[in-house]
Amino acid sequence: MTELYDLHSHSTASDGALSPCELVARAAENAVTTLALTDHDTVSGLAEAKIHADLLSIRLINGIEISAQWEKQCLHIVGLNIDLQHEALQKIIHTAQVMRQERAEKIALKLEKKGIYGALLAIQNALGKDANLITRSHFATFLMSHCHVATPQEAFDRYLGDGKAAYVSTTWTPLESVVQAILAAGGIPVIAHPLRYKLTATRMKKLLGAFKNMGGQAIEVVTGRYNPDEMRILANYANQFELAGSVGSDFHSPTNQWIELGRVAALPDNVKPVWELWQ
Ligand code: AMP
Ligand code: MN
Ligand code: MN
Ligand code: MN
Repeated sequence: MTELYDLHSHSTASDGALSPCELVARAAENAVTTLALTDHDTVSGLAEAKIHADLLSIRLINGIEISAQWEKQCLHIVGLNIDLQHEALQKIIHTAQVMRQERAEKIALKLEKKGIYGALLAIQNALGKDANLITRSHFATFLMSHCHVATPQEAFDRYLGDGKAAYVSTTWTPLESVVQAILAAGGIPVIAHPLRYKLTATRMKKLLGAFKNMGGQAIEVVTGRYNPDEMRILANYANQFELAGSVGSDFHSPTNQWIELGRVAALPDNVKPVWELWQ
């Protein structure tokens, strides 16, 4: 059987559109053999995902995508193959969720100043028991469903993006603490979508050097938006800094026609696969 790895995906436990069970079913349909569910700052979808992964004979990797602060930059650090019960990790998750709740309240206030009322209550009602995990995507969905914007992109461009009307800057947990917590929980720290931070080559090398020194082990070399040039750049960075390469679509929703679960390029031959670190 051909192995197909997708090590970055989201469910309704954070800002994904599919429940963990639906996500695993879609992975099976798309011939994924090893799936990591990596919701933002929560592991609450993993128990349900595991039950369905076992039923469908998919290997499920316990994952998470943690927001971290490096200098002035917010970075997304994926933790793969983590022990869910580990105290250090639980603490980091709790801190992130408190920060998200506080940020959500501030975003809602800023929206009210623009004449848009009731966002937080509507989001909390829709989320039910998981209301402690609110992302900007939830606000984008609210703004769309109440006809303030036509697309999620417009929600970010007008309200939620960096420096826009309802933007609230947050200081996330320091990168080093996030890396340490993932390592303590037996996991592998991976820099998610490294080119999305739009760092200069100098800053990127500074980040990769610092990340490696902290105990970071991999970067995503293959992401859902296939671009051979970018993949080559990332493969070179991985090798230069002796980091393994990960593969992940960052799938959120079937309505995004550009990104599909399991639709990822093969990891370049010259890069050490991240899954060799746990096999
Ligand atoms: P947060 O972690 O709460 O700041 O939310 C970040 C999430 O919002 C990301 O994981 C994406 O799913 C989504 N997102 C960020 N920027 C955009 C954008 N420009 N358009 C659509 N979704 C976005
Ligand atoms: Mn997201
Ligand atoms: Mn991300
Ligand atoms: Mn993601």
